[in-house]
Amino acid sequence: MASENQNGDRRHQEVGHKSLLQSDELYQYILETTVYPREPEAMKELREITAKHPWNLMTTSADEGQFLNMLLKLINAKNTMEIGVYTGYSLLATALALPDDGKILAMDINRENYEIGLPVIQKAGVAHKIDFREGPALPVLDQMIEDEKNHGSFDFVFVDADKDNYINYHKRLLELVRVGGVIAYDNTLWSGSVVAPPDAPMRKYIRYYRDFVLELNNALAADPRIEICQLPVGDGVTLCRRIK
Ligand code: SAM
Ligand code: CA
Repeated sequence: MASENQNGDRRHQEVGHKSLLQSDELYQYILETTVYPREPEAMKELREITAKHPWNLMTTSADEGQFLNMLLKLINAKNTMEIGVYTGYSLLATALALPDDGKILAMDINRENYEIGLPVIQKAGVAHKIDFREGPALPVLDQMIEDEKNHGSFDFVFVDADKDNYINYHKRLLELVRVGGVIAYDNTLWSGSVVAPPDAPMRKYIRYYRDFVLELNNALAADPRIEICQLPVGDGVTLCRRIK
């Protein structure tokens, strides 16, 4: 849904990534000019399969997938982690970016949705890079921290799961990612609700997680162990580069 404001701009009223841009048309322009013409066939196929799934609101958008793929190549990532897989669009964007001996430790409490995307990932020839673990991510991180050889071993982590745990993930991930490595937190603008007045109408889940997102953003901004950068891509991605 779009409406005109006083300046005559068409602005999205719905929740979702597009509300962060000036207009629907601008977002469509980005997709059609830069993203879709270069989207790998496997990612297109997975995007179309995911679009038919009832929870498709959760998927990473195609422009964000393109961004992740580029970022991973720019930093020469090899050992990576993803928390929150769903049908695997961001996972596939990652798997396609890594070298053949690259690794992704991928965690989700729901294996069923991962299995929707798995045949596409297999067909793309990148499934061997993925170590999927079904279950909550926090205990896996705690277990990894116990073994010192895992400390500083990850080049990149994409966090896209339960927003009320991001702070808990952050504490652990700072030990697991190497100095110079990157943690990317997804949905840090939370449908634009981070600037909504407390009494503004909001969907229940937006309202529920909003305080956690606000708390995370403040904590990241005050954390001297990282450099940060907020990108208004998708629903907002915060890149954190570990510096100590
Ligand atoms: N990155 C995915 C993509 O590109 O399609 C989207 C992930 S979706 C927004 C969030 C996922 O986090 C869901 O699939 C959900 O099952 C998972 N999740 C929720 N709580 C979790 C937890 N404690 N540990 C691991 N995964 C969790
Ligand atoms: Ca997300």
